[in-house]
Amino acid sequence: MVLTGAVALGEGFPRTTTPSSQVLAPPSPSPVSTARPTPSNAPPALAPEPTATPLILGADANAPIQKLFASGTAAPADRGLWDIASPASPLVLVNKHHPLVPTTFEPADLTTPNVMTGGGEAVLLRTEAATAVERMFEAASSDGVQITIMSGYRSYDTQATVYNGYIAQNGQDISDTTSARPGFSEHQTGFALDIGDTSVRSSCEFTICMAETPAGRWVAAHGAEYGFVIRYRLGQESVTGYSAEPWHLRFLGIAVAQDMNRRGIFSYETYLGLPSAPGYE
Ligand SMILES: [Zn+2]
Repeated sequence: MVLTGAVALGEGFPRTTTPSSQVLAPPSPSPVSTARPTPSNAPPALAPEPTATPLILGADANAPIQKLFASGTAAPADRGLWDIASPASPLVLVNKHHPLVPTTFEPADLTTPNVMTGGGEAVLLRTEAATAVERMFEAASSDGVQITIMSGYRSYDTQATVYNGYIAQNGQDISDTTSARPGFSEHQTGFALDIGDTSVRSSCEFTICMAETPAGRWVAAHGAEYGFVIRYRLGQESVTGYSAEPWHLRFLGIAVAQDMNRRGIFSYETYLGLPSAPGYE
């Protein structure tokens, strides 16, 4: 009978070193009352996950991004922007499952970065991203790499024109792997840009061979130091929903971009602990 009680206590404290002598010493007058402390003492033995409260709204509670922000080292400082559904936040997730809300969102502080453009049209970015681009292109230039900016912010209406142009050319199925529907494009946030390289032929623009150009290699190696990630990587097509785009950079802030690199995570979806978004729902 006493042994039965000992077994019950042992289950509650799997790592106990209490020898059998202690169990046998005091004969228990009431088995019910001695059993009660076990469950109430049990929770501390089950160590809670380090991240119990999600800090970044919309991301999984145990996602890597939560651990980064729990460390207290990440930007943005404004807690109102710690929300992946906020289109004004550099943390916003935009993919085929997550359109901008509202779909016609327009950023407030668009500005033209003082860098070389490759497309001949005026390029706009959110001020924070524009400043980061200027610093990044300057650093690349001092390494002998001349990056150009081909495309930045696109409004809902511009994206509709771009997307419809692709459909007219290639049909909807192919277009959906290469161009976002209006309201579903990162370019509409003002935090995304497409790059070119002055040293290579223009046939490499917006094609996979951009990855092998000096600019493509440089941003892959150093983009995170300025807060940028290559958003649509080779091998991540089923996660991001897009063919590889080594020219498309997304500003996430230095801490996030570097943390993704450190952890060897190649898609923002995975970093947020969220499901893949291969197609529209
Ligand atoms: Zn792009």
